Amino acid sequence: MRVIIVGGGIAGLSVAYFLERAAAEGRWHGEVLLIERERLLGGKITTVREDGFIVEGGPDSLLRAKLEGTSLLQDLGLEEELIFPQARTVYVLRRGRLHPIPEALLMLRPDPAAVWQARSLSWWGRLRALTEPWVPPRRGEGDESLAAFLRRRFGRAFAEGIAEPLMAGIHAGDPERLSMQALYPHLLALERNFGSIARGLRRGRSPGTSEAMFVSLRSGMGVLVERLAASLHRAHLVLGRMVIEIAPIPGEAPARYRVALDDGAILEADRVVLAVPAPEAARQIRAFAPSAAERLQEIPFASTAVITLAFRGDQIAHPLQGSGFLVPRGEPFPLTGCTWFSSKWPHRAPEGFVLLRAFLGWAGDPEAIAAEDPVLVQRATKALRPLLGLRGDPVRVWVHRWPQAMPQYTVGHLERLAAIERALRPFPGLLLVGASYRGVGIPDLIRQAHEVAKRLIDG
Ligand SMILES: Cc1cc2nc3c(=O)[nH]c(=O)nc-3n(C[C@H](O)[C@H](O)[C@H](O)COP(=O)(O)OP(=O)(O)OC[C@H]3O[C@@H](n4cnc5c(N)ncnc54)[C@H](O)[C@@H]3O)c2cc1C
Repeated sequence: MRVIIVGGGIAGLSVAYFLERAAAEGRWHGEVLLIERERLLGGKITTVREDGFIVEGGPDSLLRAKLEGTSLLQDLGLEEELIFPQARTVYVLRRGRLHPIPEALLMLRPDPAAVWQARSLSWWGRLRALTEPWVPPRRGEGDESLAAFLRRRFGRAFAEGIAEPLMAGIHAGDPERLSMQALYPHLLALERNFGSIARGLRRGRSPGTSEAMFVSLRSGMGVLVERLAASLHRAHLVLGRMVIEIAPIPGEAPARYRVALDDGAILEADRVVLAVPAPEAARQIRAFAPSAAERLQEIPFASTAVITLAFRGDQIAHPLQGSGFLVPRGEPFPLTGCTWFSSKWPHRAPEGFVLLRAFLGWAGDPEAIAAEDPVLVQRATKALRPLLGLRGDPVRVWVHRWPQAMPQYTVGHLERLAAIERALRPFPGLLLVGASYRGVGIPDLIRQAHEVAKRLIDG
């Protein structure tokens, strides 16, 4: 059996890895060909190492609670590379000032003491959040937006001032449009089963605050990609080639596929794994699966940019004791957040230097990253200058743009996925995997890849 994997981001690479492992253990006999458009593997995982700086263009960490991620790191022998945040306080911007978010609230655990310490909220806002256990659960089964859910349970002030920036920020999403069912089904289950999030978290086994929620890798997230690639001894990796079209080969049952590359090469495969973003998958299959392509195209994407700024320590007045700050929607501020990167993680900047990672752009603001790089750098520096007491210009900058790169799981996302699966039923050899579908975090993608590999192995 020949499997072609289109896309060498974490999703595609992980599928190749799980197939390779099954082949090495004699559980699967087949050939894997992975085709990646860029000359480098990793997709959104992009680590730059320059003169002692370790800069992340995309993800900087992964969630520990989802064990698929940490277990792959272990399998790849990356335990000695694991690093934990050395500063965990997250701040929120409110009327031009930074306020710490009490740690329990980072996990949306509305302990009374923690809610009371949330000084960015008014008295009334805090009192309203504390009434959550007495808010009756919602009737009805339909999907709901993140913003509607949070307002209903915790009140507007807590929703907009704390919970939304934490929960929608990761997706650069508009909380009024993001789907609860697709993104936070465990919170809906708590409401359903316990009548309240606070009560459910108290009764259930919720993680303690003594352990860090995220881990990273000493030499940067790129090590994960390098280790995955190095573990692929049997798979053929084709870099710098783009798949332009896929088509079932007529008259073959079960269906086999022809895969056309941009250099004119035509390859044949028994199975094709599309590990590319949904709009790209749609383009490749439109000719023979137009209704699946149409539904794939309906998944919206947001554009963002990560502006990393290096300063000498003596250029910054702020002590930067924390991991950074988030910006609620209503604040008149051009950034969506900023990570104090060299405070959050060890080994990120040479002695005497500081790295700041500023985020621009979200689903409601497609123009935010339209300007040229120097303009974006200036915008980020100007916004941070009064807040952090910056003097002079950054000594180094790195700009990473992510146009139309953050998938938005909007209300109805799960129904959309079900419709795509129905439309692809006549083509069982065609499999979709990646951040557009069932989870955007690295552990989610490793889990999806594992499921796809299992389907391939089970035939
Ligand atoms: C700024 C930013 C910060 C993030 N932070 C975190 C974080 O801290 N933690 C976390 O867990 N997640 C984070 N994420 C999310 C996570 O990084 C992504 O969801 C994940 O990396 C996506 O992986 P993927 O394999 O699905 O897609 P991609 O990484 O997009 O890979 C798809 C690959 O397909 C290739 N491709 C596309 N079209 C073709 C074609 N026609 N032919 C061949 N190849 C093609 C592309 O070049 C690309 O390499 C972040 C994302 C961004 C953008």
